[in-house]
Amino acid sequence: MKRAPHITLYCPACGRGYDPSGGLLACPHRRPGAEHTLRRLTAFGPSARAAAAHLRQSWQAGSRDPFRLFSAGFASRALLGRPAYEAVLDELDGRLQEMEGTGFRVTPLVEGQRLARALARPGRLLIKNETVNVSGSHKARHLMGSLLYLEAIRRRRPQAPRPTLAIYSCGNAALGAAAVARAGGFDLHAFVPQEVDPLVEKLLHRHRTRVHKYGRDREAAGDPCYLAFRRAVEQKGWLPFSCSGNDNWSNIEGGETLGWEALMQVAETGLDVTATVIQVGGGALGRAIVQAWQTALALGLAQRLPRIYACQPEGGFPFVRAYLLLLGRIAVRNGLAWDLPPWQHDSDPGPQLARLKNFSRSGAPRIRRVADFARRHFDTPAVGQVLAEAVTRRDAFMWAWDGAPPRSLAHGILDDETYDWLALAAAILRTGGRAEIIDETQIARAHGLARAETDMTPCATGTSGLAGLLQLTAAGDIAPVENVVLFFTGLDRSAA
Ligand SMILES: [Zn+2]
Repeated sequence: MKRAPHITLYCPACGRGYDPSGGLLACPHRRPGAEHTLRRLTAFGPSARAAAAHLRQSWQAGSRDPFRLFSAGFASRALLGRPAYEAVLDELDGRLQEMEGTGFRVTPLVEGQRLARALARPGRLLIKNETVNVSGSHKARHLMGSLLYLEAIRRRRPQAPRPTLAIYSCGNAALGAAAVARAGGFDLHAFVPQEVDPLVEKLLHRHRTRVHKYGRDREAAGDPCYLAFRRAVEQKGWLPFSCSGNDNWSNIEGGETLGWEALMQVAETGLDVTATVIQVGGGALGRAIVQAWQTALALGLAQRLPRIYACQPEGGFPFVRAYLLLLGRIAVRNGLAWDLPPWQHDSDPGPQLARLKNFSRSGAPRIRRVADFARRHFDTPAVGQVLAEAVTRRDAFMWAWDGAPPRSLAHGILDDETYDWLALAAAILRTGGRAEIIDETQIARAHGLARAETDMTPCATGTSGLAGLLQLTAAGDIAPVENVVLFFTGLDRSAA
């Protein structure tokens, strides 16, 4: 008899698990200052071997439906059981095909041969082309994970009314949410910036999404769209249908399919991929990818992880700041040299951000030494105690961007806060990669190169992982001979 894996939603700050059948999207005891972001823990137990074998067989047999292939550890499938889960999936897929012209299929892993030649790079460049996904970006797949979870809960309580959903976004996430929510028959409200792209707004209206626009208030800290979204969730009882794991852990479940796909496709090439560079805004993409890879490692479907690098634009880099503050704590606790003074929360952030940015360049050799120490001691208290400190004292590492108003050509990753920061930072420490602040010139150059030297049509946000690769290669972190995997995450709608 096949048993479903045991699944718990675990809050690291509360130090306790919650039953996923309760329909929780966020920790009910969340408090500012601590890391209450729920983690789905899947204990496969004796079913691990069967899950791995089934996945391998289905892939080899040619199945390319990600939400069927990679669902073994999903809470939605555990709650419904496999036959009912797959029936719900087929129903939603049918509606997506009817309404969007496509359902979710494994997106191509493209070899960027021309691009590698243009960069004089002997190593191979493997690129996941997410621009051909439902609604033109990876965001829809995150929210398909949420829709499946909400449907699993709803079908267990058939009398309960369909909840109203809410999302905040500057574009792609709202469009992804709109496509998926409409297929599920849910009403959606999107909180977007005043200056939202008119094309995006038109597409949202076409999907019958209610649009609420907010301008940036110079006096108030934080993203006004996010704050309005939070008010709607708290005061109106709308469900957070967002790509931020602190509000909606279930979006990570959907995003994991991207990591799984990349892993299976890379394995098929037979290449030894030793590094990846992931663009980071709210952090859900990076967290989802590394979570899938770590699960694959635990199931024996991967032998080791590539070095994980993350990058953010110089116009706004709360994640890189958090990573360097974490690394600094590791250095100080373990008696290693570190040149960056502790952050003064009551002092002007401007000069401190400038110093941190300079240090991320000039201090690269020191950063690499501490990152290497963290990799070697990841499973010991030398690193574990600092990660535990980050759970109880989240606000010592991650807080809303307090520099100049965030600005970049890669405007899709200018989130004020990297909500899903800790799991991604831990994966970077574990693998010995690092987080990098990318110059605007590199972001523009990467976008131009991607458009000229590939057949894809990504936007500048979507190619910012390539910008990170250019910079990390120039800095000597990633060798030109290394095989690298990148994610082109969003379509350039103005050119498509
Ligand atoms: Zn909690």
